[in-house]
Amino acid sequence: MSYPGPRPPSALWRLAGPLMRATEGLVFPPVCVACAEPLPAMAERHEEANWFCQACLDTIEPQVPPYCSKCGEMYDGAFTNAFRCSNCEGLKLEFDFAVAACTARGPVRELIHRFKYGRRLHLRASLAVLLRRVLEEERLKHEDLAQWLLVPVPLHPERESDREFNQSWELCMRLAQFTGIPAAEVLERTLPTVKQANLNRRQRQENLRGAFRIRQPRWWHRHVQELKGRKILLVDDVLTTGSTTSECARVLKNAGGAEKVVVITVARG
Ligand SMILES: [Zn+2]
Ligand SMILES: [Zn+2]
Repeated sequence: MSYPGPRPPSALWRLAGPLMRATEGLVFPPVCVACAEPLPAMAERHEEANWFCQACLDTIEPQVPPYCSKCGEMYDGAFTNAFRCSNCEGLKLEFDFAVAACTARGPVRELIHRFKYGRRLHLRASLAVLLRRVLEEERLKHEDLAQWLLVPVPLHPERESDREFNQSWELCMRLAQFTGIPAAEVLERTLPTVKQANLNRRQRQENLRGAFRIRQPRWWHRHVQELKGRKILLVDDVLTTGSTTSECARVLKNAGGAEKVVVITVARG
């Protein structure tokens, strides 16, 4: 079965895009997206230094080993062997593993908040630039990622129409632009988020059962991607317990026939 991917840029955008990028630095001098300090110059927008000042880049905490081989939870100290952590030991997580680019603190936490709840859509590229760091992870950097598929965690249609966009899909599309890895909206959310405050983690996980399903491609979807046997990079902004991404991974594997699902997020909560 095949699925819709992002629309390729229109002919007008292909012509006007480079011109706009060349002149936007003159009209809007580049500033750091986190602290609004002026930036020296704007070259390729794919580089972190063209989105963040050095002071802000220095305060961003990268996710570095040792971390849990399953959920990516970071630990102090020296571990030589792969280990599972207390965060996910009792949970059945269906993805192969999860990696995050940074810790959800300081400017990253603030940016994600502005992006998601403040509807600051222009922040998506700077977050995707940070997200790209995960592709350098030991278990991913030797993979031929062009053969993989970027898939967003879907929002329920009601939530998406409130927010006016799905933050995960926006990150997918920007990462696809930066890397050439194809992206497709393979999943849909059929049940809205329910209040889970009084539930323990296992109950929360059970509560998500049936919340997602494979999206059926329509006849007008021209740019389609095969899912069966595919390796998937499941994209979200923040990973906390991993319950939601685990349920998405279960559906991608069981109903979609995906071979492998690796969760990648900008931040680890
Ligand atoms: Zn800054
Ligand atoms: Zn873990």
